[in-house]
Amino acid sequence: MEIRTRFAPSPTGDLHVGGARTALFNYLFAKSMKGKFLLRIEDTDLKRSNSSLSEKIIKDIKWLNIPWDEEIVFQQQNQNEHREIIDFLLEKGLAFRCYSNKEDLTGTSFKADKLRGTVFRSPWRDRVVMDQPSMQHVVRFKVPSDPSRINFVDKIRGDLSWDLNNIEDFIIARSDGSSTYNLAVVVDDYNMKISHVIRGEDHLTNTVKQLLIYQALDWTPPIFAHIPLIHNATGEKLSKRDGKSNLVDFKHQGFLPDAMLNYLARLGWSYKNEEYFNLDQAISWFTLEGIGKSPSKFDIKKLLYISKKHLMAKPVNEIHESLLRYMEIYKNINMSESCSKKLRLLLPFVVERCATLEEIFESSLFLFEEEN
Ligand code: GLU
Repeated sequence: MEIRTRFAPSPTGDLHVGGARTALFNYLFAKSMKGKFLLRIEDTDLKRSNSSLSEKIIKDIKWLNIPWDEEIVFQQQNQNEHREIIDFLLEKGLAFRCYSNKEDLTGTSFKADKLRGTVFRSPWRDRVVMDQPSMQHVVRFKVPSDPSRINFVDKIRGDLSWDLNNIEDFIIARSDGSSTYNLAVVVDDYNMKISHVIRGEDHLTNTVKQLLIYQALDWTPPIFAHIPLIHNATGEKLSKRDGKSNLVDFKHQGFLPDAMLNYLARLGWSYKNEEYFNLDQAISWFTLEGIGKSPSKFDIKKLLYISKKHLMAKPVNEIHESLLRYMEIYKNINMSESCSKKLRLLLPFVVERCATLEEIFESSLFLFEEEN
């Protein structure tokens, strides 16, 4: 079997550290198995996605030096395939048109269901009345009641079993006919021949829903591996509130991509006691078994430590070039030839005290002040 993994970001915001790590793990796994790593932009949610965000995400993945194979897939372009599968599920009675409106879904019986801890079962799922496709509706997947559990093996978490009574009749097509995430992902992963889906643990319930769709279609599902989340210093999920949680924040702070990759790889994965390594080494050492089961803690001190090591190992000329580019982009400084030469001479003395390009910049500020 050819190993094919993918990174499938939704372009609804900047690339988060967790997303960058997911991309990296998928890349490392594929390459460690001589397989392919693909990129798919999940832009079906038109209200939330936007093309400049897609471009930013692609730019960040390029900055990290994670190359992908084949053409980038833009999910929107697969809408016809999604629609065909929705129609097929409807035809086979594995999905149904649901005409419940907002009031029904916020009404007292729905609230009572919620209080009882039971999930939404649409009153339309078993109705044999004539369907009225012209009336406003969504399409929901008919979650089977028998068997009432689904079992699957996760490559990281082992044997898992899920009670289907906890899974609502989920929407697979919105009222405008567009497919939702769970349906689109199954169809695209299947068509792209994805062998392994490696993603954050927050997708576990989605995996259950996706497995149900695979079953209904009689398609063999990929192998799933759910990575534990990244936590902040106080043990909560790393989020925007922590200040720096997007890749772009670390670019701004002057971390080198090699250091960032090294640190991201160590967030939840380990090989012996190796802390400091390059991408080729990570590829040769990577296994899914090396991913831990508990959340990893984002530790800025460790990132700075790794970053310093990468900086020290770089030829001074390379640091000089990276620094000039960094100052141009993030500090809006275009240096004169003579100042750049002085900076080059100063670098060997400054670098050993610094962990990031920003720190080098701060330590050599007097050079630019002299010039002004
Ligand atoms: N598009 C989803 C997200 O950005 C991920 C999809 C997946 O990996 O299946 O969270």
